[in-house]
Amino acid sequence: MEVRRKIIIGNWKMNGQSKDLVDINLLLKKITQKEIDIVIAPPATLLYEFNGLNTQKNLLLSGQNCHQVELGAYTGEISAAMLKNAGANYVILGHSERRKAYKETSTLVRLKASEAVKQGLTPIICVGEHLKSYESNQTLNVIEKQLRVSLNSKIICDNPVIAYEPVWAIGSNKTPSPEEIETVHSFTRNHLSNRFGEHAANHCRIIYGGSVNKNNASKIFSLNNVDGGLIGGASLKAIDFLELIMIMKNSLT
Ligand code: PEP
Repeated sequence: MEVRRKIIIGNWKMNGQSKDLVDINLLLKKITQKEIDIVIAPPATLLYEFNGLNTQKNLLLSGQNCHQVELGAYTGEISAAMLKNAGANYVILGHSERRKAYKETSTLVRLKASEAVKQGLTPIICVGEHLKSYESNQTLNVIEKQLRVSLNSKIICDNPVIAYEPVWAIGSNKTPSPEEIETVHSFTRNHLSNRFGEHAANHCRIIYGGSVNKNNASKIFSLNNVDGGLIGGASLKAIDFLELIMIMKNSLT
């Protein structure tokens, strides 16, 4: 029995100011959460305002990162509790841009995910290989290691979203073939099943991210073990994101 709702997540990264919320109002009028989960991860400065506009709860909101401890002397950081308080339901963790720029490790991702779960946020845990690993057929080894370290049974109880995002596919207009994506996703599902049991494997959503656009989305979203998409560039304009939302809805069987 199918227990996973498809989910589409727009990651705005470090883009967006109050004026961009006009576009979002347009989106809010055209969507509902009826068939799929629709999430936007705006910059933290816009979360609260976003939440205020989202009176019908047509959108779910996500942070883009959080700190691993609850509160304290961590200048410039944002806690999971603050994200929750501003209206977020999810938080993206371990995005490759953070792994690269801020040397975030899978151990740190696990600590952040634990804190997120504690505060009532669902983590969206990103994993993915660099080009060199892809080219030397090391993708599954890299993914296995990242999953092994990033997850534990407490985090799994919250049914985290796992986002497979090949680092070389992000913002590059390149993607793995549909067969390669399916291979990584079914490998991830097996990893969850072997380590945490069937329930976890059936309930955790495994989504793909990296240069998804209107031309490749239909193929990717229709793959057996792809439960959704993490969208960067194509989520910045409401009209583009809406198109992907429609494609995902059409991919439902
Ligand atoms: C991302 O950064 O998570 C992402 C998927 O970006 P893009 O869609 O632009 O490749």
